[in-house]
Amino acid sequence: MPRPCRSWTPPFCPNPRCDSHGAPGTWRWKRKGFYERLRGPRRVQRYVCRCCRRNFSSQTFSTGYWLKHPRLLAPLFHRLVGCSALRQIAREFGLAHSSVQRQCERLGRHCLLRLEALRPQGAPTEPLVLDGFRTFEHSQYWPFDLNLLVGASHYVYGFNDAELRRSGTLRPAQRTRRAELEAAHGRPHPEATRRAVEELVGRVVPPGAAVEIQSDEHGAYPQAFARLADRRIQHRTTSSKASRTPRNPLFPANLADLLLRHASANHKRETIAFSKRRQGALYRTAIWAVWRNTLKSRSENRRDDPPAVALGLLPKRLGVREVLAERLFPWRQPLSPWVERCYFGRIPTRRLGERCRQHTLRYAV
Ligand SMILES: [Zn+2]
Repeated sequence: MPRPCRSWTPPFCPNPRCDSHGAPGTWRWKRKGFYERLRGPRRVQRYVCRCCRRNFSSQTFSTGYWLKHPRLLAPLFHRLVGCSALRQIAREFGLAHSSVQRQCERLGRHCLLRLEALRPQGAPTEPLVLDGFRTFEHSQYWPFDLNLLVGASHYVYGFNDAELRRSGTLRPAQRTRRAELEAAHGRPHPEATRRAVEELVGRVVPPGAAVEIQSDEHGAYPQAFARLADRRIQHRTTSSKASRTPRNPLFPANLADLLLRHASANHKRETIAFSKRRQGALYRTAIWAVWRNTLKSRSENRRDDPPAVALGLLPKRLGVREVLAERLFPWRQPLSPWVERCYFGRIPTRRLGERCRQHTLRYAV
């Protein structure tokens, strides 16, 4: 992580309950000595807030805050979008698999905030494409859709999840097993896709805005749009059987699906690196979306600008160091209820019930 220079001053109080957290205004602080660390930066300036008396340091504003291996974040980012599995990364760096998983979750939370902070707050200025990327959590008895909303520029505006019931051709033994699992853990809500699409489009398209959305002929999409009566949504459909060429109106979503499967070990067919929890898959999708929007060219052959630059949201392509340059705090930007639940790890895995770990740390949020 970049080291704060001598002239660096804390931008706001890191205590979310302090008035100076969201609106620093005339915030006052004072220096309070140094502390020594085993890893760089070895000498860290400490501060105290004059308003709430909270102690903090320059490290509090670093994405490596409270990490034992802060230098792992950047290589981990590359490997997570380079199709490595967590245990493969752990072996490379000589770490426990759980350490890599925790850092992956931190990266996911950071990228979720980064994605929300960069997303245009007004109406999208380009046609959008909506698609459900089919994958599963825990076992193939628990499929879910990653709903993606992608612009014609290939910019990923947002995503969310919708639980599904296992379908397709099942052998009698599989049908019995599905019935047992559903009796023990319940069934996904039959309108989960409609609810999720309504949340996703409602988050990206503000009330009163007009937008064109292309999608396949999924029956839940028109139902979701009908409930967003305060948005003017022009819905156009294309059969999912149409050839998936660049001329297909769904090409941005088809390409996003290809890239997501190509870049993520957890979404490969017949893999043992599948996501054990939907929450983990969502964190990895956030990392992938930041990579897609701000680092990766729209076309590999042309080596052109990433989608965020093409849309004018960024002046130039970012590097991983720039993505990780500063820590983002969840209370300093408005978050929709779904994004907040995802950030704090509250997306449940039905099969695990109460055993799902949430993100409940007080300081290293
Ligand atoms: Zn304070």
